[in-house]
Amino acid sequence: MLNKYILSNLRIISPFAANRFIDRGYVVITGDKISAVGTGNPPDIADFKLYDLQGKTVLPGMINAHTHLYSTLALGMPAPSDPPINFVEKLERVWWPLDRALDADSINASFSAGLVECLLYGVTTVIDHHSSPNSASGSLESLAQAAEQLNMNVAAAFELSDRNGSRLFQAGLEENLDFLQRYCDHPVIRPLIGLHASFTLSDESLSTIRQTLGGISGWGIHIHVAEDKADHADAVRLGYRSVIDRLNKFGLINEHSLIIHGIHMLPEDVELLEELGASLVHNPTSNANNRVGVLSTATITTLSAGLGTDGMQANMLKEAKEGTLIRSNSLPGGAPNVDYLQLLFENNARIAGKIFTDSLGQIQPGDRADLTLYDYKSRTEITEANYGAHLLFGFERPSDVICGGIFQIRDNKLINLDEMEIKSAARIQSRKLWHKMNRT
Ligand SMILES: [Zn+2]
Repeated sequence: MLNKYILSNLRIISPFAANRFIDRGYVVITGDKISAVGTGNPPDIADFKLYDLQGKTVLPGMINAHTHLYSTLALGMPAPSDPPINFVEKLERVWWPLDRALDADSINASFSAGLVECLLYGVTTVIDHHSSPNSASGSLESLAQAAEQLNMNVAAAFELSDRNGSRLFQAGLEENLDFLQRYCDHPVIRPLIGLHASFTLSDESLSTIRQTLGGISGWGIHIHVAEDKADHADAVRLGYRSVIDRLNKFGLINEHSLIIHGIHMLPEDVELLEELGASLVHNPTSNANNRVGVLSTATITTLSAGLGTDGMQANMLKEAKEGTLIRSNSLPGGAPNVDYLQLLFENNARIAGKIFTDSLGQIQPGDRADLTLYDYKSRTEITEANYGAHLLFGFERPSDVICGGIFQIRDNKLINLDEMEIKSAARIQSRKLWHKMNRT
């Protein structure tokens, strides 16, 4: 039976929708879509169940434009005995040993616990970049199944790399292609082609990837670009102007491409990405943590960059707040900051619109009914003029989350799955994983 209900007595904040702030209003849901939004009391519609939300605040379900759910079990993992002193060493001593140690059970636990964590912070759409080189086959399917259990929107890609030899490169390529074939027409599970980064892929591998994609329509790559100077230096050493120049020479950049980080790109690269219509995603907390630099404000503005967490956290409002603070620290007094809420609510919705078939990320008729409700009792007045400060500095965890018209969290409780069971399974798998990596 078609889902039909009305959420009433709500404060509605959808920062980049036509009606961005309604102090008291209602949202009508029909099936998996928002069918109407209005102010005041809701109309009386036959067959529609009415929920009185008693003054709760509703935001659009949020979008994380770049993350790595495979790192879910790394929280609190002991550091390597020989601590890394630069970005490449950090990959070699922390992240690559972790992704090589993942197996089917730890992958499942990472996806389930990772997606639940996203949902608990009101994130209903996740663009994931997955790596498990020794357990590639079926890994993206396991993410799709975990997402379907929660009715979440997920874009999945398997990171291709030469760092584990040609056999595992080939296994990763097959995993991307299998998933692409299986999910090319699916509305909420979307396939992208994952590439780890230019500096771990040879010219031969880039050529193989491009040739393999030859007869396929609608593909887009998802790749880390110039996150650290080492990636740029490697492309220059190979005879290219930059990483973007290299990827473009292989015909790998198009309007569906997701370019991640881009800190050490050249001005010509930014122009080229703009011309090709590719999307850039900024991950401020990860960049600060890795000490790789701060993405320029001009690049963010020119390319209308989106916001991701790169596996650092699930909470997008916190990423926006911390992004604001990290940039503030490098700005002179009086200089304007980047509007991180614009990255989160406007730019991420535009990027998701290029990947998913439904319109996502705004509270407006026709959008998928992904909604996040907060029982937010503010200590100061909240108005159209100041809600941004409340979002960054006041809001914490939502009380209710709706994915595609279905309540997944109601009054602080996960409805269809057992949160404690999922976390307990994740703890067991994390112990095994750390043991396998000789970190215990
Ligand atoms: Zn990343």
